Order: sequence, then C-alpha cells, then structure tokens
Amino acid sequence: MKKSGNYSGIDCFRMIAALLIVAIHTSPLLSFNETADFILTRIIGRVAVPFFFMTSGFFLISRYSCNNEKLKTFIKKTAVIYGIAIVIYIPINIYKGYFSMDNLLLNIIKDIIFDGTFYHLWYLPASIIGAALAWYMVRRLGYSKALIISALLYIVGLFGDSYFGIAEQIEVLKQFYSLIFQVSDYTRNGIFFAPIFFVLGGMIADTNVKRSLSINGMAFAGTFALMVVEAMTLHTFNVQRHDSMYIFLPVCMFFLFHLLLYWKERRFALIRMAALIVYIIHPMMIVIVHFLAKFLGDIIVENSLINYLIVCLLSVLFSIVATIFINKFTTSRNSIKKKWCFETERAWIELNLDNLAYNVNALQKVMAEKSTLMAVVKTQAYGHGAFQIATFLNQMGVKAFAVATIDEGIQLRRYGICGEILILGYTNPNRAKELKKYDLMQTLIDFKYAKALNRQKIAVKAHIKIDTGMNRLGVSFDNINEVKMIFSMKYIKVCGIYTHLCCADTLLPEDVEFSENQIDNFYYLIDKLKERGIQIPKVHIQSSYGLLNYPQLVCDYVRVGIALYGVLSKPDENTRVKIDLRPVLSLKARVVLIRSVSKQDTVSYGRRFQAKRDSLIAIVSIGYGDGFPRDLSCQKGGVLIRGQYAPIVGRICMDQLAVDITEIEDVSVGNVATLIGFDTMDIAAPDIAQHFNSISNELLCRMGARLPIIIK
Ligand SMILES: *Cc1c(COP(=O)(O)O)cnc(C)c1O
Repeated sequence: MKKSGNYSGIDCFRMIAALLIVAIHTSPLLSFNETADFILTRIIGRVAVPFFFMTSGFFLISRYSCNNEKLKTFIKKTAVIYGIAIVIYIPINIYKGYFSMDNLLLNIIKDIIFDGTFYHLWYLPASIIGAALAWYMVRRLGYSKALIISALLYIVGLFGDSYFGIAEQIEVLKQFYSLIFQVSDYTRNGIFFAPIFFVLGGMIADTNVKRSLSINGMAFAGTFALMVVEAMTLHTFNVQRHDSMYIFLPVCMFFLFHLLLYWKERRFALIRMAALIVYIIHPMMIVIVHFLAKFLGDIIVENSLINYLIVCLLSVLFSIVATIFINKFTTSRNSIKKKWCFETERAWIELNLDNLAYNVNALQKVMAEKSTLMAVVKTQAYGHGAFQIATFLNQMGVKAFAVATIDEGIQLRRYGICGEILILGYTNPNRAKELKKYDLMQTLIDFKYAKALNRQKIAVKAHIKIDTGMNRLGVSFDNINEVKMIFSMKYIKVCGIYTHLCCADTLLPEDVEFSENQIDNFYYLIDKLKERGIQIPKVHIQSSYGLLNYPQLVCDYVRVGIALYGVLSKPDENTRVKIDLRPVLSLKARVVLIRSVSKQDTVSYGRRFQAKRDSLIAIVSIGYGDGFPRDLSCQKGGVLIRGQYAPIVGRICMDQLAVDITEIEDVSVGNVATLIGFDTMDIAAPDIAQHFNSISNELLCRMGARLPIIIK
C-alpha cells in the first residue's frame, strides 16, 4: 500500500535499462570480442525488460486494492502507447516488405498479440497480458499460488528459449513447442515470461522486508554470477534457441530490485517517460544511423561501439526533446489529476500507521497467549478508513476481523483481505449466498434467526451470540436447548460462540459485579454444552475494555475496536491494565480565509458570537458535514493553528467553521488547523468527545463521511 515515495533508484535505472536494450539491438562490443558482447547483450542486457515488468508490477499489482480501475487504466495506457508505436513503425514495415508476406492477416494478429509488429514492440503486448494475468492470479489466489503458477509458466518458457536444445531432444516437447511457435515466435512473451516479474514486483511492494544493503548486494552479486555461468554454459553447448530466459534471472532480479529501492531521495519523474521513448524510438535511430552512414562515412556503422553510442545519443536527444514537448502539452492536465494535491487542500484525515502497529503489539502483549486479536473495523474502521486500516493490519499478520454488516464484510474481501471476517450484526437470511461466496461468518442473533438462516439451505459459517445480561442480541445463556439445537442445524457451521459485556468500561463495584456475573453466565452455558457432549468452538467475550479490565480471561479471540485506534472512549479512564496507546488519527483542515471583524460584529449562523473587541477570524474549511460535531460550536471546541489554541466562534456550519485567531501571530491563508491530534499541544479525541457528552467511538466513526485519508 505504501507505494508513493521517491524511488530514485527505480527512476534512474529506467534509463540504464533502456540503454541496455539499445545495446541488445546494436551489439556494441561485437567489433572487439564476441564473448564480451554476448555477456553484455545476452546476459547483462537481459535484466532490462524484466526490470520494466517488475516496475510496472511494483506500482500496479497488489494483494490489496480499493480500485479495480487501476488495471484497466494501465491496459488502456499501454495499448495507446502500443498503437502509437505501431503507427510510427508502419513506414519501416512497408520498406522491409512486411505487408507482402503470406497469411498476412493471421500474421498481423499474431504479431499484435505476441510478437509485436516491429521486433522490440513485443514488450508492450507482453506488458498487457502479463499485468492482467498477474493481477488476477494475485487477487484471486494470493502471492504464493500466483508465484508458483507464474514460475511454472516461466519454466515452460525456459524450455522454449534458452533451454530449447534440451526440449528438442524429447519428441513430445518438441511437438508441444512447435505448436506454441505457430502462435508466438518465442516463449519470451506475455504468458510465459512477463507474469513472474509482475508478480514479483507486486510482492516486493506489498511486503516490507528489511534486508540489509550488504546482504542484498551480495545476494544480487551471487545470483548474477550464477546466471552468467548458466548462460555461458548454455551458450557453449549451443542449447539456446533464444537467450532471454535463464533460471537465475527472476532470482537475481528480485535482489536487484530490492537494491534499487534503497535509493529514495527524490523523484525523477521525467526519466520515466524519456526511458520509454528511448525504448520505442531506438530501432528508428538504428535505421537513421545506417542512412546517415552514406554521408558521414561507414565508420559509424562499422565500429559497433561508435554505432551504439551514436544510436544512444540520438535516441536520448530525441527522448529529451519529446519529453519536454509532451510534458508542456500535458502538465496543465496532469497537475489537476495529481490527487495528493487535492487531498490536503481542504480537510483531511491523517493516519499514523506506525502507531497502529504499536497499538497492535501493545494489545497483544496484554492478551492471553492463546488469544487471537480480532480487529474490529466496522463503520470504516471507526472513521479511519476500512481499506487503509484493514490492509495494513492484514499485512502485519492480523488474520481475524469483525464488521457490523455484510456489506462491510464484502467490501473487505474486495479489498483483498484474507483471513476470518465475522459480521457482528444482523444480515438478512436471504443473503446467505453472499455469506458463502465471500466466506463471511455470520453472528446468529437469536434462535429464530438461526432457523431462518438454516432454512436457506446454503452452508454458512456462524458464531452464536449469547446474551448474558446486555439484553441486546443473542440467545439467552440459560436457553441451553436452543443453543444445542443450533449446533445440530444442517447448514450452519458453528465456528464460534461469544458474548458481549455491557459495562466492562467502569470499575465501579456494582459494574464489576455485573460483568463478572455475565462472564460466569457465559461459562455456565459453555460447561452445560460440554456436559451434553458438544464440541466447543472458538469462544470470545472481551472487547477493548473487556481486555483492559478483565485481562485474566483466556479466550480464543479478543474483539478489539477503539483501543486499536489508540484512544479510549473517555479521557483519563481508569482500567486494570494500563497500556500506553498511541492515537492513529489526526483531523486537519486549512485556513481558507482570514477576516477582521470589529467589536460588536457577529459571526456565522444565528449570530451566536459577538466580538467583544476588534478581532481576527480565520475561516477553516471543515464542518459538521465532514463529521465534526456541531455541538462544539461557540467556544466549546477549538483548533490548533501554528501550535496555538484558537477557539471556535459562532456556530459550526456544514462545510466551514470560524475560529478566533486574534492572539495568534502570523496566521496566513493555507495554514493547517489541527482539529484532532498534535501540534505542539494535543487535542485528544476523548476530550473533544466529552465536550459534547459523547465518547471518542462516536466522534471518530462520524469522520467516514467525505474526508480524504492520507497516510503520514
Ligand atoms: C463494536 C464491538 C466491539 C468492539 O468494541 P470496542 O469497545 O470498540 O473495542 C466488540 N464486540 C462487539 C460485539 C461490538 O459490537
């Protein structure tokens, strides 16, 4: 998910890779030493295209995605570039007699899909096919399976490429490959070659492995050396039909890509386009140089190194001019497109995911050893953004989630969340099919409900909710027969049984007594079930406060919501275990206007603020429409600007609010106002919540409305 960043290494290597490809097509060392040329162009040069595939995979492929348009956009863009490139090369195709071949139409189709209509253009259709295959494999099957399948495809490719000499000896294989070669000139294409690199690119982006630079460097050097040995051996024994695919290539690419990720200083965005242009245009330059040789002397084609350098020079010059031109032409549109610019323009939520990771670890330390953390991510993960929170937790290794509704559950699956998802609330039984399809576990809210769900005749996983005194959802704890009957329902697979404590948040003696009674009731039922020979499924009782006040309970899951987000419901609350939680969310907005008002002037709806002195008022672009409570109007709440507190004056509007900044120096339009979070001082969610008689749970989950979420 953390794919935005300054990947200087990747950006710069794009140009190196493009120039390596020029080398493949010009053989710069051929005038001097054939072996040296083989090593440069057929071994070193072979990292270039896989690098491009991996880079595309790195930015495109993910186990997690909240945007299925991404693949479409990539395919469209690549197809447009391919279309342009095809057109550019038509004159040369004509000159070379391309259009006079036999079976022209079939050959054109074959070339467009696999081989490229000009020799180097195969890369573009291979990108499209490879990206699509990798995308679907990763999303549907996860990385391990996608990697296995793409590796198998790669192996098939190997024996049609560098290892063809071996395959040729075996009759079945020989026939198999001759079939393939009728459709595609090489196995180095979108099906056999590209997918593994796209998958690897996505895998590297999704997993934050931290290997040391030197280990990575050595691993790269080692695997690269092995690839050289491999290629030289194959070359010596004349096994190769083509020389793009080696066993060690994907391995060595894996480490090379990691190495490039170490250099992260600034973006060289323009190199990206320039390298692509070099890639597309260099064969044209090769032709042009041959043409120029007539005037400038044969030296520029006869000496391979000079030829290479001139082709590079012309290609790079052309790409620079073209990049500048294209950039001028498109910047006005692009700058509007740059969403990250928009996102912090008005009002936004800022997430600190390091704090989230910290909270998870801190909570896990308090939990019983055998307990699993079930992350409660209902209501957009308490306003933090279900996608951002759930994918981050899933990547961290959290494998159990709870949501309130079936649609929240389905959304998590669409994002790519794997593991268990429990729906805590009611789902219409006639949606049983979806429960099964998305592998969601449904809470059985009472006996009648369980029967209705069972009547759907669709096998669904479920947890039985037991009411032990809250009197909300659940089968009563003393209704042992009903619970027992649920266990015998044909289409209900009971995976869990749980209850919810209704006053676990206080340590008042009567509340503690009530909670302990609830816990006893729950275990009374469990014991009775055991007595009747029922295999007890996973049990769970605690939510955040359940954990903090009753940490001694040993359950299979702990359903943690609010504590995960680093706050408690109310300020300065006393709990049995105290852990230092760190808030994950900050709420920020911009000052969009500053105005002076005179003594006696009033501000905002209803004229509820009247200036007692000449004042400076800042208008901040956030309102109750964004979830910020209107109850905090008229000095009940405030914001931090330049590290100082500015009280909210007058009524909060739907989209704006006004603050008094008379006493803060140097405030200007564009300054950030912190509504929740830290800016020299702290405005904590529980405090604000208390100001309007609520709890931070409510305050936070209101934020899901229209605020963009950015990750710090
Ligand atoms: C929301 C919810 C939770 C999480 O509660 P927190 O107090 O936020 O930890 C746990 N269990 C059930 C049944 C819930 O509805």
